[in-house]
Amino acid sequence: MPLEPLPQPLDVIAVGAHPDDVEIGCGGTVARLVQQGYRVGIIDLTNGEPTPSCPHPDVRLAEAAEAARILGVQMRKTLDLTNRRLFDSFEARVALATEFRRYKPKLVLGLIGKTPLASPDHWQASQITDAAIFYSRLSKWDEFFDGLAVHTIQKQVWYQLGTASLEIPASAGHFVVDISESLKLKLEAIRAYKTQFPPSKDRVFQMVTSQNQLAGSSAGFPAGELLFAATTLGVSDLVQAVCGLAEATAKSVAADRADDVPHLSAGTTSEL
Ligand SMILES: [Zn+2]
Repeated sequence: MPLEPLPQPLDVIAVGAHPDDVEIGCGGTVARLVQQGYRVGIIDLTNGEPTPSCPHPDVRLAEAAEAARILGVQMRKTLDLTNRRLFDSFEARVALATEFRRYKPKLVLGLIGKTPLASPDHWQASQITDAAIFYSRLSKWDEFFDGLAVHTIQKQVWYQLGTASLEIPASAGHFVVDISESLKLKLEAIRAYKTQFPPSKDRVFQMVTSQNQLAGSSAGFPAGELLFAATTLGVSDLVQAVCGLAEATAKSVAADRADDVPHLSAGTTSEL
């Protein structure tokens, strides 16, 4: 049995290789989930250091804590795996699965895809997360997980970090989460990483904003994040699933017009 009392379970855990991966890839979704009342946590597999402009790993950790505060998440944890030397291994899988067993999320958001010309840790993190989701529910193995009981994660969704290609990664389907109400928080959270995004890297914010506007517009939202379902998304009420979305789109378009803000939309209710 575990020695410490278990924390209150989380609804969602988002996993990144380095502090700032989650913010860039799905920070708007994370902030939106918190706004909607869900309990959300972030796990960074490594501390992301060393990097050229950061004087000490503690500085990056403080930036990550500030970003977590901005997003409003209930938990953020950095695992003791090594930046630049992150590999899909039994130990890495167990380390992450132990946290899944501890915090019992219903849904895990993980990285998908390679990031050519950037850190290969992202691809390793993708594989570690996939495996840890499986390890979390394996019975007769508790001794590897601090004695924590099995936990079955209901669903897995991937987020993409790479911007080097327009190719959509293989998945059971992609969809867009409306982050119109949380894009500002997302950008603020990324800005918390002062050592990673000094003024000379302002193009990152333009890139993230335009990507999110493009993804959002494709679904009829001012801003959105493109996510990938690991398993087919089932619909029990087709009208609610499809028209509910259209009604939300209509509201958001109407609000935009009331503010006299030009808005390009491919949503079904738009006349543009
Ligand atoms: Zn990274």
